[in-house]
Amino acid sequence: MRIKPVILVFVVTSLCLAGCDQVSVKERRTEFLLDTAVTIAAYGPQAKEAVAAALAEMNRVADLLDANNPDSEVSLINRNAGRKPVPVSAEVFELVELCQHYSQMSSGAFDITVRPLVELWGIGNKDEYVPGPEEIDRALELVDYRQIILDQQKKTVYLPRAGMGIDLGGVGKGYAADRAREMLLEHGISSALIDAGGNIWALGERPDGKPWRIGIRHPRPKADRNVVAVLSGRDFTIVTSGDYERFFQRNNIRYHHIFNPATGLPARGLISATVVGPNSAEADILSTAVFVLGADQGLALVRQLPQITAMVVTPDLDVLLAGPLQSYFEFTGKEGVGR
Ligand code: AMP
Ligand code: MG
Repeated sequence: MRIKPVILVFVVTSLCLAGCDQVSVKERRTEFLLDTAVTIAAYGPQAKEAVAAALAEMNRVADLLDANNPDSEVSLINRNAGRKPVPVSAEVFELVELCQHYSQMSSGAFDITVRPLVELWGIGNKDEYVPGPEEIDRALELVDYRQIILDQQKKTVYLPRAGMGIDLGGVGKGYAADRAREMLLEHGISSALIDAGGNIWALGERPDGKPWRIGIRHPRPKADRNVVAVLSGRDFTIVTSGDYERFFQRNNIRYHHIFNPATGLPARGLISATVVGPNSAEADILSTAVFVLGADQGLALVRQLPQITAMVVTPDLDVLLAGPLQSYFEFTGKEGVGR
């Protein structure tokens, strides 16, 4: 692959959006939701109404999925663990089903029942710490997607053991971005960028007819290089999971927020995993799954899915790719891929 230097124009959270400042923005708004800054920029006559509707929709989704909001459907499911099945909306039911599908495909690398681990480690909270092996084992006993009981007819979700809990943090931003895209499309928007904290929907093409250019954050940025690669294209979603998003350090070891359900520890095989595809909820799930699986197994999973492209960065800063859009990545390092 040819390697070109790239000039970056505009940086947002974990990914940067290049090029969107070169044309007049019809409407751009940022709101804090789903634990992240969400920015939507849309172009077209109805851009203002469209962005307002898209953000309202994302807020609705956040309220439905946030495990820390006592009024969310997810909280209700978790509060009733070991007690009773909980009737949920069709959309939450379908989202849990989608997660289960990819849990099976990834042999449990993606597993929404990680909530006991998320709570134990408390990464990003005031009480974050490195738990002992017994505590991790106790939490791990409650982590197993195969135990979730779904009733198709009654649309109920049941966690059969007290202490179990689901956490949709690995899929929620992608799902919300898909919903926001639907809202924009309903308002006739054919050119927009949705950035939900590293979950990007690049809708249609730039208003000047050129492809979007999306920068992928370098997981170990330097002053002169905060982007590892740039992807050019039209109408795609791109999602990155990284060990730099939420972490703390103890004795020079980085403890981050993406857990390997096989060990109960932060996954160690990769430091970033980027997934590109036509659906952001799936790309979000897969970015987390690939991150946990590591380069070999993660890219093997991607090769089974014809519409999915992935780029991973190993702890040694090697960069590996799989999938149909590989040739649309430009690397920013003159000397080659990661370093
Ligand atoms: P992401 O940034 O999309 O990779 O998602 C990370 C978030 O997903 C974490 O903050 C947890 O809420 C949740 N999570 C962590 N590990 C896993 C896992 N192995 N499977 C599913 N969700 C996870
Ligand atoms: Mg994810």
